[in-house]
Amino acid sequence: MTEETPKLLDYAPAPESTAIVTVPDRKGLFIGGEWVKPVEDGWFPSINPATEETLGEVAEATADDVDKAVHVAHDAFENVWGTMPGAERAKYLYRLARAVQERSRELAILETMDGGKPIRESRDIDLPLVASHFFHHAGWADKLEYAFQGRATRPLGVAAQIIPWNFPLLMAAWKLAPALATGNTVVLKPAETTSLSALVLAEIIAECDFPPGVVNIITGAGATGQALVEHPGVQKVAFTGSTAVGKQIARSAAGTDKRLTLELGGKGAHIVFEDAPLDQVVEGIIDGIFFNQGHVCCAGSRLLVQEPIHDVLMDKLTRRMETLRVGDPLDKNTDVGAINSAEQLARIEAMVQAGVDEGATIHQPSCDLPGNGFWFRPTVFTGVGASHRIAREEVFGPVLSVMTFRTAEEAVAKANDSAYGLSAGVWTEKGSRILWMADRLRAGVVWANTFNQFDPTSPFGGYQESGYGREGGIPGLEGYVNLVAPGGAA
Ligand code: NDP
Repeated sequence: MTEETPKLLDYAPAPESTAIVTVPDRKGLFIGGEWVKPVEDGWFPSINPATEETLGEVAEATADDVDKAVHVAHDAFENVWGTMPGAERAKYLYRLARAVQERSRELAILETMDGGKPIRESRDIDLPLVASHFFHHAGWADKLEYAFQGRATRPLGVAAQIIPWNFPLLMAAWKLAPALATGNTVVLKPAETTSLSALVLAEIIAECDFPPGVVNIITGAGATGQALVEHPGVQKVAFTGSTAVGKQIARSAAGTDKRLTLELGGKGAHIVFEDAPLDQVVEGIIDGIFFNQGHVCCAGSRLLVQEPIHDVLMDKLTRRMETLRVGDPLDKNTDVGAINSAEQLARIEAMVQAGVDEGATIHQPSCDLPGNGFWFRPTVFTGVGASHRIAREEVFGPVLSVMTFRTAEEAVAKANDSAYGLSAGVWTEKGSRILWMADRLRAGVVWANTFNQFDPTSPFGGYQESGYGREGGIPGLEGYVNLVAPGGAA
């Protein structure tokens, strides 16, 4: 018996007001606690991907600006932050966490305007997690001596932090919070298409009276990032982004004493056994691949379904996809927002064309897409072969590749048949099977009967081409410290 396709309920539009957000025409670079013009006076527009309207202009930092920022960060490390007692550093971080909460509505709306993600997600997921990362790490700042079993910690110095455009503010928090809690100073570069919320964060940091130079935020493109990671005054590089750029950074750090953590791409396996509760599974699949338009490094982009339930699950999934609301990210009813940039849309389109050309079957809902802006329909491919590009390469968009398996051993083999190793999910009623699978899946995170859950206490990171090092929890602190025996040398 096939169930009837549910009708899309007729919701009235519920747009979030943007009145609370003011984007200045130009803001500048945040260096040494001040807003400064870039040395070469270069600027580029930041646009709203849902409307293609320019929101404001962002400074293009060059090597001279990078040099200035690294020097003030070094001075702040030597003279203030690196020697400040942890309990004092904690006060700044608690203050920052609370200030983020106070301005969370404004930040959520700005994040949605600049990046295209649904307001429901920036409001209910990104911003609460940003605050909780600062709270969590504030708690560690004066307890570091308990984190590493009898070993004391020493900060490294200046951390260069490069973040991507998919979770702009959340990635800034993931990077800043552990670095600052452990006594390092920071020069952070947000992604070119999504710099605006990091600049408001800089304002908040200034309002919280952080000593000048402890946090510096410089904007620019890939060349700015490259100048930052290659600067000899940097002791630590933390990067989240594509595997290609991660490899480039690893090559440039090789032969130096810079510490490096890389959080790169993924091709997460989402595995569904025949005993799983299928209606819940469908919601998990939707969340796993369509959350944030699939611009998620740990997205469940490869669905492995036990053969007997493949047809019934695909039937449920494609019917559920018809009810997804794709459109205005500022509308509180929207499920899937805008693709972050024209470049990313072109990459997604090329990968989907490759899927069609290689013979997979494409399923898309019949929804209308807005006229302006960058949009892509939620997409599922069935009949995908293990060698297809859509089964092997990161699409970083709302595109799911579905394959089948018969036994748990085959599921593990197929899940591990990837150059990546960031995330996986397992759906089954049997707890023992979850543990058996988790032991064998080569992924930094394995979710059980859920997907895409994040928590600052839980380490996150990958294997293989997904990078190395962890963010969150005690392992996340380790990337920012030298460990020393009490009274001993580093
Ligand atoms: P990038 O890896 O180029 O961007 C990530 C960050 O690195 C940005 O801040 C970027 O700056 C900066 N950057 C770029 N080149 C360099 C460099 N040589 N040295 C130092 N920093 C640099 O990702 P893209 O935006 O180009 O996206 C391409 C693909 O990467 C996507 O399609 C997706 O598959 C993947 N991706 C994966 C992410 C993940 O979390 N796993 C996140 C983002 C992308 P700028 O923005 O100015 O170019």
